[in-house]
Amino acid sequence: RAIAHWFRWDLRLHDNTALHRAAESAKSHGVPLICLYVFSHEDFHAHYTSPARIDFTLRSLRVLKADLAKLDIPLWVEEVNDRKQTRTQVLNWCTKWGVSELHANMEYEVDELRRDTKLLREGIKQDIAFHFYHDTCVVEPLILRSGTGRTYSVFTPFFKQWEPYVYKNECVANLFPSPPKNNPKLKAKDTFRDLFSQTSFPDPLPAKQLSQKDSHRLAKLWPAGEHEAKSRLKVFLENGISKYSDRRDRPDIENGTSALSLHFAAGTLSARQAVRAVLDHSSTRSLDSGHHGWIREICFRDFYKTILLTNPHVCMNKAYHEEYHNVIWEYSEEHFQRWVEGKTGYPIVDAAMRQLASNKYMHNRCRMIVASFLCKDLMLDWRKGEKYFMEQLIDGDFASNNAGWQFCSSSGTDAQPYFRIFNPLSQSEKFDPNGDYIRHWVPELSNVQGKAIHEPKTRLSASEFKKLGYPDPIIEHKFARERALERYKTGLGRN
Ligand code: FAD
Repeated sequence: RAIAHWFRWDLRLHDNTALHRAAESAKSHGVPLICLYVFSHEDFHAHYTSPARIDFTLRSLRVLKADLAKLDIPLWVEEVNDRKQTRTQVLNWCTKWGVSELHANMEYEVDELRRDTKLLREGIKQDIAFHFYHDTCVVEPLILRSGTGRTYSVFTPFFKQWEPYVYKNECVANLFPSPPKNNPKLKAKDTFRDLFSQTSFPDPLPAKQLSQKDSHRLAKLWPAGEHEAKSRLKVFLENGISKYSDRRDRPDIENGTSALSLHFAAGTLSARQAVRAVLDHSSTRSLDSGHHGWIREICFRDFYKTILLTNPHVCMNKAYHEEYHNVIWEYSEEHFQRWVEGKTGYPIVDAAMRQLASNKYMHNRCRMIVASFLCKDLMLDWRKGEKYFMEQLIDGDFASNNAGWQFCSSSGTDAQPYFRIFNPLSQSEKFDPNGDYIRHWVPELSNVQGKAIHEPKTRLSASEFKKLGYPDPIIEHKFARERALERYKTGLGRN
């Protein structure tokens, strides 16, 4: 017999709640620990998982498999074509390998919660015990409540409770170690030879594959696995965190932020490990603004996971504040395409969209600028942008992405009021003051000097502008602003 751990977005050995519990149980029952990952094509399709994220997952799984093998623990990657078959395939796998308990960390999306609830029931009938754990957040969702016993729907009061809770309850003090080696007497290598011998993992479907060139390029840009996550965190603590508050909004400054989001999304690093490392790194008892500011961003991640769990309607294409459902959107495919291609004629928007297309990542400030531009300037439905981001981002995470889009479209928690509309020009001047970010990503503008970089159409002469081969702005911001105000007011019945 065996005890199993099912890896999901928790692709690490250290500080992994379910893996640790599975290892403890295996030890106490005197049976081997074995591991599973489900590679489900339909789930990737249904969740718009980007090829870059799937590629990063496969690379992280290779690291994980090698690390587990050193502990005599096998990892099997189970290919699933039809997501309705996931439960059957998992149960069959358990039966085949004599699994009496399967441990996994919870996923909070509606489909995944339903799947796990059904598995729990079906497992009982087949004598397989399923154990699910909270793991992805620093503070388990639903623990923090307001004075009236409700879960929070606004970030600041949530953070005010979250921060002292984290420090006082020491929920980051004792992190789970990596599981111990399987006892050699149990001869896992022999019993589970077929699991150990899986040398190649399933290929994603063609629509979800990166070209070979992109695959090599992104592997260099975004090295995968738990060890890389730890070294990236170390570098950020040494070089970035103390200046984080001053630089976090500046896309033109390299390493102004940690670029760890893809590791948090894949679970190659736990948020608890990150907070623990920040606390250890801070030399003073009270955190400086950089350390404090970064921990606050980690709290945002916890907050949005909690919102997802307590508001399942956000998983169903609905606005968090449902009254925003009545806003009337435009349907210009041409505008959407130009936004996607970074050809809107707004340099900061175009730079950001090209960064996304190339690196499968975008700076947070730019995510806000391009999202606001899509929903308020182009008046296109935020859900189109949300989906496109998931299809591109290497760090695509439903809770943070959905919340980010709903924040920008004003329908989410703590949302920008609908009448606060980003001006792409002033955002550009403020956060990319010298235009270096724009010059890097928009080669047509690489020789434009001074303030004209932010607004070449109006600040250069007609002939100078024509020579650049850069598009005219697709919409006038002043007109777009007025239109958005009108549409939101009407949609909300505030006319
Ligand atoms: P840092 O500034 O170093 O922050 C550290 C960590 O804190 C991040 O890695 C992330 O896990 C968390 N964090 C930071 N800001 C936020 C935030 N606003 N919301 C939630 N968590 C945050 N983040 C994702 O991880 N996946 C997404 O799919 C995603 N989509 C977004 C879409 C939009 C429209 C917006 C406005 C934001 C989105 N974010 C998303 C949040 C944020 O932009 C990224 O987490 C951040 O840019 C990642 O870079 P970093 O790791 O250098 O962040």
